Amino acid sequence: MPTRRPIARVLFAAPLLAVLAFATAPGASGPIAQEPAAPALVERATALLETVPLIDGHNDLPWAMRAASFYDFDAVDIRQPQPKLQTDIPRLRAGRLGAQFWSVYVPARLAGEQAVVATLEQVAAVREMQRRYPDTFEAATTADDVERIFKAGRIASLMGIEGGHSIGGSLGALRAFHALGVGYMTLTHSDNVEWADAATDAPKLGGLSAFGEDVVREMNWLGMLVDLSHVSPDTMDDALRLSAAPVIFSHSSARAVCDVSRNVPDDILRRLVGNGGVVMVTFVPGFVSPETAKAEGDFWSELRRLQKEGLDEAAIRKHFEERMRTSPPPPATLAQVADHIDHIRKVAGIDHIGIGSDFDGIDRGPVGLEDVSKYPALFAELLRRGYSDEDVKKIAGLNLLRVMRQAEQVAARLQKERGPSTARPPQAKPAR
Ligand SMILES: [Zn+2]
Repeated sequence: MPTRRPIARVLFAAPLLAVLAFATAPGASGPIAQEPAAPALVERATALLETVPLIDGHNDLPWAMRAASFYDFDAVDIRQPQPKLQTDIPRLRAGRLGAQFWSVYVPARLAGEQAVVATLEQVAAVREMQRRYPDTFEAATTADDVERIFKAGRIASLMGIEGGHSIGGSLGALRAFHALGVGYMTLTHSDNVEWADAATDAPKLGGLSAFGEDVVREMNWLGMLVDLSHVSPDTMDDALRLSAAPVIFSHSSARAVCDVSRNVPDDILRRLVGNGGVVMVTFVPGFVSPETAKAEGDFWSELRRLQKEGLDEAAIRKHFEERMRTSPPPPATLAQVADHIDHIRKVAGIDHIGIGSDFDGIDRGPVGLEDVSKYPALFAELLRRGYSDEDVKKIAGLNLLRVMRQAEQVAARLQKERGPSTARPPQAKPAR
């Protein structure tokens, strides 16, 4: 598969901001050095990741496998090094990953049943990965599972749906996905859904609709984590007000450090203290570095200008390929990722930080965080900045384990009180 998404897909099909996190050609905009961490700190970080499971909130390997081979693990065997991907088993082991929420993302342009079917195919791919590589992956749905699987030396394999379009407006579909092992749902992807506003779309509802509120309550009832990455601040606000369990941001960073709408504003960060939720800091270059974000924003305005001028898709692609060669966006760095962690710590506190890389959903990671083998370098940087061993363990996984346990307790309590919801979105036809 191509190392970089075909630009046509980047520009015309794929999610708005996330995909413009494309590409920073190697060395193209001058040397941005990332000081390598002292070997002793990397060693200490690595040792810590052997005591607590490092839980990553978001990895797009399933969609990358769909693009590469339509999930044919014979054609793309991740037990072997796969340099065109950011994820394979040798590098997962080198990076000491303990648990992964695999994103079962499907594009927001797929509507209704098409989205549901494609999401089911993504779920099936994750299950196939678990079947095929049983020494490496084992399915997990609870915090206890994660700890047990990690202790057994395997990687706990969890799933997250990325966008409410994946349930086709059906709480029954939501419950069925949960039964298949899906542990969280991001309420929207890049586009609004009928019942929730997205961060990168024009606000329509001002947050959640009444049915959107039903979705959040049903997720609490199921014990499915409510993921607020990609949603608008109003949707974050509504969900925080409603959710009986801690929420997560499976792959977002701090808006005060990099002012893009996909990141979390300070007022929302402060509210995580009462909610107990966690921001899983992402490595998406355009959400990490203000310079990268600015360059990508310029790309977008240019795209709109060219479309207005009536250029066809091939001409636009050629234009951007040329631009990528001559003046690609500047890269983000590992140190900038650590800056986001510093900021969230200052505003929300150490108990509200996790890691959500978005590997294989980005074309290139920050310098120093190029693939799944690099996690220890990030924790080494935190140790260098004075984070304690206990701090590192919380960020790596203890915070998220706490969130999972709380959500499980809320679900157990709610399931004693009531059955599943019978709510339907307003546009649904009444049953005969
Ligand atoms: Zn995303």
